[in-house]
Amino acid sequence: MKSAVLRAESEAAIQLAELSIQETGADGVYISWHDGHRESHDFGGQTFTVEEYRERVLPKLREPNCYHRPYPVMLSETNQPWWSGNRADPFGFAEFLRQFNERLEQLKKLDEEIAKVKERVKQLKEIGFTR
Ligand SMILES: [Zn+2]
Repeated sequence: MKSAVLRAESEAAIQLAELSIQETGADGVYISWHDGHRESHDFGGQTFTVEEYRERVLPKLREPNCYHRPYPVMLSETNQPWWSGNRADPFGFAEFLRQFNERLEQLKKLDEEIAKVKERVKQLKEIGFTR
């Protein structure tokens, strides 16, 4: 059962990647990296052209119990080298996520501030204050 779910999840990720490649014109595919991968799956944490991905990597992603996931990327539009040397975070995804969450926290605080001001305006109207 567990492996059937994993297989479905893996296939969904593969199909989603194909769809993204077609819809966005992505010309590369980054393969997620994880510990304890089988020897023949040494492509984790690396980026391939779409052609390389389809020929060399994709068939292996469909092997049973594979935890690698493909993420389409724009190789031609990035000025950064695609390989940062950090196997666990070659594209700086962790840093991106950190900044995203930080921004989200700021927006939440802003939302709370707006709610406070709205509440204050409501209170002022209730006591008959008009502009
Ligand atoms: Zn794998």
